[in-house]
Amino acid sequence: MAATTVAGGAFAGFGGLVHAAPRGTLPDLAWNELARSLDGTLIRPEDDGYREWGHPQNLRYDARRPAGVVVCHTARDVRTAILFAQRTGIHLVARSGGHSYGGYSATRGLLVDLGQLNEVRPDREAGTVTVGAGARNSGIYTALQPHNLAISAGRCPTVGISGLTLGGGFGFSSRKLGLTADALERTTVVTAAGNSLVCDDRQHPDLFWACRGGGGGNFGINTEFTFRTTPVDTVAVYQLDWDWQDTPAAFAAVQALVTQAPSAFSCRIGGGSAGRTRPEIDGARKVSAIGQFFGTADDLRDLLAPVLRAARPERTLIENQTFWQAKDFLYHSVPSDRYAVTSRYLDRPLPERGVAAFMEAIDAWPGSSNPDGAGIALFAWGGAIAEVGPRETAFIHRTACFLLASETTWAVQDDAALVTANLRWLQELSRTLDTYGNGQAYQNFIDPDLRDWRRAYYGADYPRLTQVKRTYDPENFFHFAQSITG
Ligand SMILES: Cc1cc2nc3c(=O)[nH]c(=O)nc-3n(C[C@H](O)[C@H](O)[C@H](O)COP(=O)(O)OP(=O)(O)OC[C@H]3O[C@@H](n4cnc5c(N)ncnc54)[C@H](O)[C@@H]3O)c2cc1C
Repeated sequence: MAATTVAGGAFAGFGGLVHAAPRGTLPDLAWNELARSLDGTLIRPEDDGYREWGHPQNLRYDARRPAGVVVCHTARDVRTAILFAQRTGIHLVARSGGHSYGGYSATRGLLVDLGQLNEVRPDREAGTVTVGAGARNSGIYTALQPHNLAISAGRCPTVGISGLTLGGGFGFSSRKLGLTADALERTTVVTAAGNSLVCDDRQHPDLFWACRGGGGGNFGINTEFTFRTTPVDTVAVYQLDWDWQDTPAAFAAVQALVTQAPSAFSCRIGGGSAGRTRPEIDGARKVSAIGQFFGTADDLRDLLAPVLRAARPERTLIENQTFWQAKDFLYHSVPSDRYAVTSRYLDRPLPERGVAAFMEAIDAWPGSSNPDGAGIALFAWGGAIAEVGPRETAFIHRTACFLLASETTWAVQDDAALVTANLRWLQELSRTLDTYGNGQAYQNFIDPDLRDWRRAYYGADYPRLTQVKRTYDPENFFHFAQSITG
């Protein structure tokens, strides 16, 4: 990387020396100077705490360990890390929540960890909330709850707001409130040149556009986000569990409901198998629907009546809750382990033969000792998500009816052959289900094996994204295997 793109800076003194060093083998002199320049901490492989800071959330990528981790305490640390990487040529990636499915917040170079920049500042008067780049869903909900203000965020408490927002971000409030990115009013980005830019509709509008769907890790490091909030009080929630043999009827009835349900209604219907090599959970196949309704349990029961008639659940839960109880009810935590995901958008419901194909695939799943097992999930799309035009933000997937995700998981004790079999199984299932998709996939379910990812994630927006890249990162400083290039 050309050091000349960076004016002066803390590392100008030994630029020539460290430039000669290969990736990850910089002299101690360089690392020591970086450590001294930080408000936060530099953690190297020999330091206490490296195990904690150095490994990714998805242990599939655990071999990709950083040469150094900058634990940022201030936005200034982000700039310092970028200038250091510019001077030394070391590969740099940002990590906020660390949940990248493609392992793109893991590197053998310099990891910029934003987890400590997690302040959440609600502003009741302005109706906004400003969050540090390292905040996670759980921290944001906790800070908003006393004010009864919400943003549409994800279901997993530990997912980071940065990756979530930059790639779109959906949850059980999205059909009512829009995507996480749709409520973004302003964000601050530190660019490859070390400049801190405030981006909104008026300032750097092209970069602001790209920060709403263009994906994490592409244009700079965001240090702060300001969102518009919505007042919330009570909602109704539901969970319906069926016997595996009722899967076709359950999928048909739920999908029919989703296609004409009000935007107040959200839904995830999913099915699959729990981990198979542990005897106590051997072959446990399940199908269930879960979601939230901005209304009362009585109205929700009426709405769900056709589903309950068409496919009688083994277990039915429908009840009123506060928005915050509902958030806890809907939470789904995924332990740090090994997993892979693929996604496709559907313009119409998955037909009977698609459901049959997925059930056959579950029977053929090679198994693993991860209790989370494998399966598919359909997330109801539309509602407020469809009210934003496909070119208004860099998030193109506005007209779909469902997001389809397929997933498999495994664990450390599973041998290499079983891991390969799992990954092959996932790719085969995705190819089968491709028939029913519209050619698009969700950039936040980023899949390193997806070949035509530029079209699938960004479609007609890709050329405009490359234009933004050329403006703000002309040297392609921020890069990974599926990053936008200028
Ligand atoms: C268990 C699990 C549950 C999920 N649930 C949902 C869900 O309910 N809804 C949903 O929409 N998605 C969901 N996702 C997908 C999630 O939105 C993406 O994985 C997202 O990218 C994670 O963001 P992160 O900050 O946690 O990840 P990270 O791995 O930290 O970052 C993701 C990417 O963004 C880059 N990046 C990180 N921080 C910054 C920054 N500050 N500035 C610029 N680039 C940055 C990283 O380098 C990486 O390329 C889930 C993922 C997992 C693993």
